[in-house]
Amino acid sequence: MTTPLPLVFDAPRRGMPPRHLADLDSQERKAVVEELGLPKFRADQIARQYYGRLVADPEQMTDLPEAMRAKVAEALFPTLLTEIRHIECDDGTTRKSLWRANDGTLLESVLMRYPDRNTLCISSQAGCGMACPFCATGQGGLNRNLSTAEIVDQVRAAAAALRDGEVAGGPGRLSNIVFMGMGEPLANYKRVVNAVRRITSPSPEGFGISQRSVTVSTVGLAPAIRKLADEDMSVRLAVSLHTPDDELRDTLVPVNNRWPVAEVLDAARYYADKSGRRVSIEYALIRDINDHGWRADMLGKKLHKALGPLVHVNLIPLNPTPGSKWDASPKPVQDEFVRRVQAQGVTCTVRDTRGQEIAAACGQLAAEG
Ligand code: SAH
Repeated sequence: MTTPLPLVFDAPRRGMPPRHLADLDSQERKAVVEELGLPKFRADQIARQYYGRLVADPEQMTDLPEAMRAKVAEALFPTLLTEIRHIECDDGTTRKSLWRANDGTLLESVLMRYPDRNTLCISSQAGCGMACPFCATGQGGLNRNLSTAEIVDQVRAAAAALRDGEVAGGPGRLSNIVFMGMGEPLANYKRVVNAVRRITSPSPEGFGISQRSVTVSTVGLAPAIRKLADEDMSVRLAVSLHTPDDELRDTLVPVNNRWPVAEVLDAARYYADKSGRRVSIEYALIRDINDHGWRADMLGKKLHKALGPLVHVNLIPLNPTPGSKWDASPKPVQDEFVRRVQAQGVTCTVRDTRGQEIAAACGQLAAEG
């Protein structure tokens, strides 16, 4: 069953970049290669270069005849993202990159190395239209949707940098992707789903990162959560809830006025049932705003009722954003909050947040050139 989505989910292609290989599925890419007058087998060969060897410049595709490379470059490899700069912290194991798209649009991605995994936090939109008052991206408004290839190329660039030993800690492999950078992924639905397919399919269709290692995070667009469940991909779903009551959530996550808490949790349950996976509930803990003991009780109760064991709460101590007077809750309040959620039979942990000092942490991405 697929639910028709309101128009807001698929804005027209206005201002989108030129077509790139990563926008295309295997049939489309074969069609383009044939239009160029090349034999069909070249399509997979080129895709293997991009997804398998992480090469985005046909001049470096040495298995293509030289005469062919310029033609392929023009038709399939416009330069989509140019790195303007990157900044690092945590001894170089957290690295934020600022990218310029070819129309001048700015966006950011953040790479984080951990002992057991390498995670890239990617953007799905330049800016964000959801207007959550505690998030720097939301304060800047939506610039535009990113194309599938602009999303996918963030992944290629990071995977190549890791492989080539450009990131502290020695050569490594990109293992996890989180759609927790700029933007609301489910408001750019089709392009995000296509990007997930490219990220998770094996070469030559994609990078072959396990679906289980990909997380899509949403403010809670309930119909889109259901639609995603029906795609039958086993990616992890994260829902940014931030409070269990509609009264406060209407102000913290304005889209709650359209899809209130009960509807979001119903959709999350549907997702958990279809995917067989636990849903993560994201909760930025804000001093004196949403950190009360009674809210922890209510959160635990509502989640237990809606999702049973198929839920996990991630508390994120609020990261400061420019112009906001809000800050994180004191440690004892945070500890008590965790205890009370757990007392309702719901697992709850505090996220180790990275990148605050380089404005790379959750809610701090503003892509200021
Ligand atoms: N729009 C999606 C994807 C962004 S993910 C979503 O909201 O889920 C970014 C995560 O960081 C979300 O859970 C968001 O609520 C959270 N966040 C935003 N601002 C924050 C801040 N100032 N401190 C901590 N977390 C924040």
